[in-house]
Parts: sequence; C-alpha cells; structure tokens
Amino acid sequence: MDFQFTPEQELFRQSVREFADRYIRPRIKEMEEEKDVPHDLIQRMAEQGFYGLRYAEELGGQGADNVMFAIFNEEMARCYMSVAARAMMQCLMGTEFINLYGTEEQKRKFLIPAIKGERYGTMCMTEPAGGTDLGAMQTVAVRDGDEYVITGQKNWITGAHAVDFFTVAAKTDPEAGFRGVDLFLVEKDLPGVEVGERIDKLIAFASGCFDLYFNDVRVPADHLFGGEEGKGFTLLRSILNDIRVHTAALGLGIAQAAYEESLEYAKQRVAYGRPIIKWQAIQHKLARMRIDIDAARLMIYNAAWRMDQGLPVNIEAATAKWFITEAVLRIVDDATRIFGAYGASMDMNIQRYFRDARWLLYGAGTQTMILNIIGAEIRRQ
Ligand SMILES: Cc1cc2nc3c(=O)[nH]c(=O)nc-3n(C[C@H](O)[C@H](O)[C@H](O)COP(=O)(O)OP(=O)(O)OC[C@H]3O[C@@H](n4cnc5c(N)ncnc54)[C@H](O)[C@@H]3O)c2cc1C
Repeated sequence: MDFQFTPEQELFRQSVREFADRYIRPRIKEMEEEKDVPHDLIQRMAEQGFYGLRYAEELGGQGADNVMFAIFNEEMARCYMSVAARAMMQCLMGTEFINLYGTEEQKRKFLIPAIKGERYGTMCMTEPAGGTDLGAMQTVAVRDGDEYVITGQKNWITGAHAVDFFTVAAKTDPEAGFRGVDLFLVEKDLPGVEVGERIDKLIAFASGCFDLYFNDVRVPADHLFGGEEGKGFTLLRSILNDIRVHTAALGLGIAQAAYEESLEYAKQRVAYGRPIIKWQAIQHKLARMRIDIDAARLMIYNAAWRMDQGLPVNIEAATAKWFITEAVLRIVDDATRIFGAYGASMDMNIQRYFRDARWLLYGAGTQTMILNIIGAEIRRQ
C-alpha cells in the first residue's frame, strides 16, 4: 500500500489545524482549570461546519468521507483532547443512530439542528455495573401503550450536562443478555431525566463526564431505534468500526503532538554542553516514537480508506485501535522522560498528553476486548 493524502485532504488538515491553533489552543489553560468547554467554543465549531462533516449535504452536512473525518479527529486531538472528545461525540456517537435509523421527523427535530449546533447529543451505554459486559446492563425499557418507560442509571457520560438528547441503551428483554439491549432516543428535558455528579477524573479534564439517572422516563414508542425490539446490538455493531477508527485517530493526534514537542525540546535543552538531541539515547526515544507514529498512521488511514471503499474492515479497525493505544502510551511516557522534571509540570503540555492518552484505554472498547475481537475475526477466517 502506498497511502497518499490528496491536496484537498492536506488543505482540510491545514484548515482544522489553523482553527484549533486560533480558537482552541489559547483557551486550553482556562478549560483545564474550569474543567469544561465553553459554549461559545462549541458553537464556533458548529459555525465552521464541523458537526456536519460526516453527514449528507441534504441534511446540511458536508458529506466528507472517513479519511477526512479521521484527519479532523487527529488534528483536534493534536491540539486538545477534551474538545476533540466532545466534538467526536456530537459528530458520531451522539447523532449517528438518528442519521442511520431515525425517522424523518427525528432527523428534522434532532439531527439537522445538531449539524447546525442548535442541539447537542451524546451516547449512554456505561453503567455502574460495567461498560464492557452489555448483558449485565440493568437499565430497562418497558413498553406501556404507545410509550416506553426507561428506568436506570448510567455513568461516565461525556457532555451529559451540556447536551439536549441522549442515545440510551436499555434492556427491553432483561432475560436475553446482550441480545435484550435496545437503543432509544431520549430528550434531556423529559420528566425523570436527572444529570448527577460530575466524575472527577485523570483524563481529559474538560470533556465532562457525568452520572445520569432515568427515573421512569416516558419516551414515544418510535424513539426505539430500529423499529422493533431486540435489534440494539446489531445497530450498535453497525457503527463500532467507525468508533474504533476515529478513536484511534484521536490517539494519533496526541502521539503526534507529544512527538513534535519532544523533538523541539530535545533541540533546545542543553546537557553536558550540547543539545540533548545530540545524545543517542534521546535520538532512540524519538526514533521509536517516529516508528510508532508512522505505523499507526498507515493503519488508521488504511482502515478509514477501506471503510470509504466499502471493504471489510473489522480487523483493520480493531488492529489500528489496539496498536495506537499501546503506541501512544509508549510515546507519552518517553516524552515525559525527554522533558525531565518539566514533563511533570502542570504548566507544560506533556503532562496533559501523558494523562489524556489514557482515554484510548477505554474509548471504543478496552484493549482486552479489542484483542478478543481480533481473535474472533481471525478464528472465523
Ligand atoms: C473519559 C471517559 C469518557 C467516557 N465516556 C463515555 C460516554 O460518553 N458514554 C458511555 O456510555 N461510556 C463512556 N465511558 C465509559 C467507557 O465506555 C467504559 O469505561 C468502557 O466501556 C469500559 O467499561 P468499564 O470501565 O466499566 O470496564 P469493565 O467493563 O468493568 O472492565 C474492567 C476490566 O475488565 C476487563 N474485562 C471485561 N470483560 C472481560 C473479559 N470477558 N475478558 C477479559 N477481560 C475482561 C476489561 O478489559 C477491563 O480491563 C467513558 C470512559 C472514560 C474514562
């Protein structure tokens, strides 16, 4: 494979980078301290057309492909993971089920306004009892005439405090394990929806993760995605490759930032009379970073390209996600070593990359589960 970005893709990368440098970078310190992303910045991304990148032009989107969207995610995370995470939620997990499985009315009411930045969405899977094991889910949705009544608790929900609607996983058949899980569109201002405590966390200070309660929340029956019960797992599976590839692109952005700043620092920092980049031990660290980044970039964009071609991508999406996760953790670790004590300073970006890279361990599935998926795919071949 000889992967080449087109001039149009390179131009797009440049425009996202310029946006991030101009509007996000100067406010990172403020966001890290406030532990939130200001609404005007979220709105500015809408004005830029970012939330409609993946969506059809008829809906007000840009109709961009997966390679383009991966570039967007990489560049956003290269600047600031907290904003990148919130943007990806709005562009993908928080809205995609409406795009794929929503009624025309739901698209008009939720998706088109989401593309314009008038309404925001997020996805609610994880519960206190666990995130990986869908079969253990305790949130239930019980049919009552023309409505479903949803009862349960979610946690770790990104941006729950700042959105208008949720895609909520709940069991319609509690006896059926993960096959009993369905997905529902739930408006936040319905009676019984309650945003709980903010979770104080190591990773992505400003992304905002919250507990969320559904206290007998009534939603119209047509807010069940897929039109009939028992389809939730299949619907979920239909976007898992997208989530894996684009989460991997976020990891690549952090890796790239850590590498670039380490290289720059190694040229400036002097020890024993010479810039530390002249010491081979430092060069080896940078060389390993470069190898990891080059390999990850090929894997991630190859997987994105395969999705765009309609080619099978289950293995490629999973291997890219697994590889970049391990790679970025190695890279940010080496970066903090190159920076010496400054790698531990809260005034430097490196500590932030060191923390935020750990997002990759949970987003789009834990590493163990990704290996399970790759293993199962290999077995089937
Ligand atoms: C910053 C952040 C933001 C998040 N945002 C969201 C969000 O917006 N919406 C949302 O729904 N969730 C969100 N999550 C939650 C995330 O999706 C979960 O953390 C993830 O699904 C893993 O679930 P868990 O943490 O409950 O781990 P568990 O499922 O409890 O797993 C714990 C450990 O056991 C391992 N394990 C589990 N099953 C097996 C098995 N069969 N074999 C071997 N090992 C196994 C796992 O790999 C892991 O190492 C977020 C998490 C973080 C940290």
